[in-house]
Amino acid sequence: MALSFPPRQLYYGGQVQPASSGKTFQTLNPATATPLADIQIASTSDIDAAIGAAEKAFPSWSQTPPIARARILQKAANLLRERNDEIARVETLDSGKAYTETSTVDVVTGADVLEYYANFIGGGGLNGETTQLREDAWVYTKKAPLGVCAGIGAWNYPIQIALWKSAACLAAGNTMVYKPSEFTPLHGLTLAEVYTEAGLPAGVFNVINGAGDVGAHLTSHPTIAKVSFTGQVATGMKVAGSASGNMKYVTMELGGKSPLIVCPDADLESAVDGAMMANFYSTGQVCTNGTRVFVPRSMKAVFEKRLLEKIPFVRAGPLFDEQTNFGPLSSAVHHEKVISYIRNGIEKDRATLLCGGPEKPNVPQDLQAGYWVKPTIFTDCTDSMSIVKEEIFGPVMSVLYYDTVEEAVQRANTTELGLAAGVFTKDLNQAHRVIDQLQAGITWINTWGESPAEMAVGGWKKSGLGVENGRRGIEAWLQNKSTLVDMSGAVATVFAKL
Ligand code: NAD
Repeated sequence: MALSFPPRQLYYGGQVQPASSGKTFQTLNPATATPLADIQIASTSDIDAAIGAAEKAFPSWSQTPPIARARILQKAANLLRERNDEIARVETLDSGKAYTETSTVDVVTGADVLEYYANFIGGGGLNGETTQLREDAWVYTKKAPLGVCAGIGAWNYPIQIALWKSAACLAAGNTMVYKPSEFTPLHGLTLAEVYTEAGLPAGVFNVINGAGDVGAHLTSHPTIAKVSFTGQVATGMKVAGSASGNMKYVTMELGGKSPLIVCPDADLESAVDGAMMANFYSTGQVCTNGTRVFVPRSMKAVFEKRLLEKIPFVRAGPLFDEQTNFGPLSSAVHHEKVISYIRNGIEKDRATLLCGGPEKPNVPQDLQAGYWVKPTIFTDCTDSMSIVKEEIFGPVMSVLYYDTVEEAVQRANTTELGLAAGVFTKDLNQAHRVIDQLQAGITWINTWGESPAEMAVGGWKKSGLGVENGRRGIEAWLQNKSTLVDMSGAVATVFAKL
C-alpha cells in the first residue's frame, strides 16, 4: 500500500541526509492505525555527523549579532504562520489531534515563542550588567551561549515542543540537534526546512530520528553542552542523571498529576468548564492536566450533574471535521496503558464510574481500528487510588471530595509531582492564598491550560528542572561571564617589599 508521505530522512548540515543504518520504522495515523511514512533511523555515525555539523556552525552563529539572529527567527515565525494549515494537517495525521486543535494551537503557540525570543534578543535582552565597584574599577557581565545542545521531544505537542526548545536555544546563540518522539516524527524535517528557508545557516538546527537508543547516544555525547528533554519522569531521571553527571546543563519538562481545587464559592459553570478543559482537551494528553479535581462535599450533586450535562459536548469523530474536538490516543501502546488504568479504577481502586469506561466510543466504521477511548470520570476517589496517584496521560478525571479548603490544599500537595495546579474561587484573597500554598511551577486562577510565550513554565519536585518560555526561559540556554576591570594602574599585591 502506498503511504501518505515519502520516506523521511535526517537533516543536518543544512540539507536532507540519508540515514546510514539501513533501518526504518513507521509512523501511524492513530485515528485509523494505518501507516503514514517510513522514517529512517539515525545510526551512531549519523548522530555524530549531525553533532559535528552543529559544532561547525556554532562559532559563526554564536558571533552573529543578536539583531541579525532575530531577523531570521522572525522570518521563520512568519513562514510557520503562512503554512499553518498545511503543517497542522500533518500534525493531525501524525498525532491524532483534531484539526480544530492543531490548526489553532500547535503551530500558533510555537511561532509565538519564536517571535517572542526574536523580539527579546533584538531588543537587547542578551545584554549583561555593569557594576561600578570603585572610581577606577567595575564588573561587567556577558551572557554567553553554551554550545551544541540536544533537544528531545515527547509526542503530545510535536512541533510546539520542537519550537519551544529551538527558539530559545537558537536565539541565545547555540546550535541544536533535535530528536522528535518516534511516535510523531513528521514535523522535524518540516521545521528544519522552514528554518533553512528563513536564512538559518547550515548546521544551526539539525534533526535526527529514532527511539530511546538514538536519544541516549545524542544526550550522552561529549560535545553536547546541554540537554533539554520533554517526556516521562522515569526517562527524564535517567537522562538528567547521565547528563548532569557529565556537567551538562539540563532542562527537564516532565509529567504531572496536577490538582484543580474548586472552592465552595466558585462559579459552578467556570469550575466545570475548567475541569473539562483540564481533563479532556487533547484527549487528556497534556502534561499540565488537572486530573485530580477537588470539590467541596456540599457541591457533589450539582458538580456531577453539570459534568454529565457537558460530556456530550466532547465529540470524537473524523479528525478534519470541524465539529470534532476529541481525537484518539496517540498509539496502540498508550491506548493499552490508559485502558488498563480505567479498568484498574473500576476493578481495583473501586472508584465510582460516573461516565466513560474501557469500551471503545462510537466512531464511524473507517475509524474503528484507531486508538479511541471514551472521556471517563471517576468520582468518590481517594488519595491512595492508583488512578489518583499516577499520571495516566489520557482523558480520565478523578473527582475527590473535601470538607475544608485547608484539607484540599494539604491533600493536593501530597504527591511527588508538582507540574501545575489551579484554583476556582470568587474570593481574591483566597485565590492567592491557595495558589501560594500549592507546590507547583505552573498555576492558574479561574482558568486552566493557557501557556503563552510570555509565561515561564516548568515543574517543581519530580516534574522537572528549569523552565521554558518567558524571560527566564532563555537564561537556561546561557552561561554567565563576569569580568572585573581595574584601571588603577597598580595590582593590589601582598608580595610587596616591606
Ligand atoms: P518518553 O519519556 O517515553 O519519551 C520522550 C522522549 O525521550 C522520546 O523522544 C524518546 O524517544 C526519548 N527517550 C527515551 N529514552 C531515552 C533515553 N534513554 N535517552 C534519551 N532520550 C530518550 O515520554 P513520552 O511518552 O513521549 O511523553 C509523554 C510524557 O511527556 C508525559 O509524562 C508528559 O507529562 C510529558 N510531557 C511533559 C511536558 C512538560 O512540559 N512538562 C510537555 C509534554 C509532555
